[in-house]
Amino acid sequence: MGTLILKKGREKSLLNRHPWVFSGAVAHKQGAVRRGEVVEVMDAAGNFLGRGYYNDRSQIVVRILTFQEEEEIDEAFFARRLEAALRLRRTLLNNEGTTAYRLVFAESDRLPGLVVDRYADFLVVQFLTLGIEQWRETILDWLEWRLQPRGIYERSEAEAREVYEGLSRRVGRVRGEEPPELVEIKEHGYRFWVDVRQGQKTGFYLDQRDNRAQVAKYCPGQEVLNAFSYTGGFGLYAHGVGARRVVHVDSSQAVLDLARRNLESNGFPAETDEYLAENVFEVLRRFREQGRHFDVIILDPPKFAATRSQLEKATRGYKDLNMNALHLLRPGGILATFSCSGAVNADLFQKIVFGASVDAGREVHILERCAQPGDHPVLLSFPEGEYLKGLICRVME
Ligand code: SAH
Repeated sequence: MGTLILKKGREKSLLNRHPWVFSGAVAHKQGAVRRGEVVEVMDAAGNFLGRGYYNDRSQIVVRILTFQEEEEIDEAFFARRLEAALRLRRTLLNNEGTTAYRLVFAESDRLPGLVVDRYADFLVVQFLTLGIEQWRETILDWLEWRLQPRGIYERSEAEAREVYEGLSRRVGRVRGEEPPELVEIKEHGYRFWVDVRQGQKTGFYLDQRDNRAQVAKYCPGQEVLNAFSYTGGFGLYAHGVGARRVVHVDSSQAVLDLARRNLESNGFPAETDEYLAENVFEVLRRFREQGRHFDVIILDPPKFAATRSQLEKATRGYKDLNMNALHLLRPGGILATFSCSGAVNADLFQKIVFGASVDAGREVHILERCAQPGDHPVLLSFPEGEYLKGLICRVME
């Protein structure tokens, strides 16, 4: 096994158990240091810091797997890590009402590069780095043996895989049966059809599960605008508590068709809802011109800032969106607004929404704060894993 020796003083983050070694921190290499393979990382004095996999095509040259010197990286290591991830999910979701969740969330589960989502009897896997790719058979074997899914489907198609990891896109069935066109899952007792093969992310926004329930509390009897609806999530929960009517807006007609189907599967009145396959920014402006109003508006846009450099543009996007939504709310109305851009932290997001409220000329209370659920855990030593935040606000009368 090769060794990387860090520059003096650059061991701090690893001593704090942050799992990334940046290229600039490395003083020199010893022995066989090969791309994708496990290396040892030591401080300038030769003390062991951690063991992880190496890839010098990425700025992050090592992703640490273990900080314990006696822990070898072998099949048993992966079995232990996966078992721990499974135990956490069983603690969180030990009920029949929810059959879809994130089983492994990469660095946050101390398995950098690996994502595993469960959708009822199927698993969807993503091997995002060259280092974890070396262990794919070990990981797939364990998942198959331990969980006995009907099938495992791979969605390793992130751009970073090609750009930084030198891996090609890999999509398709890897174990067992090919998933059907739509897989039926349950979330808090609601039924959803999920396209795990072609849907966004791995098919469903699992990370909004608890927030959907949180927002639904404000929806009984209300007229709801579900902006960036995807396959219906928030709107369906709103119907679950007796919302009067939901307007679903998404740029994709296909996801709106699925939203409608999801409502029907749960016996909700799908035909009286409105489905707009349009740009949310334009719909909000038009509604304002038309003088339309709502009791509850949900804004759950896609990631506006993938990196810090896009922060300014993202800030403008969020502000514009929130300002236009606030204009459409009746007095006492609820705005449930989200951001899944990791680069926009909760503080900044609150400031943006504040700016939007000033421009909209409305006074707003924060009633609740939302975050990602426990199956997308945030490791204290890896704050980069935190990305989803939201505010449930009320416009003062
Ligand atoms: N709230 C959803 C997830 C939203 S994901 C849920 O609970 O499942 C973001 C969605 O926004 C995607 O479905 C994408 O198709 C849509 N989208 C992205 N940009 C858009 C735009 N400018 N106007 C309308 N929809 C957009």
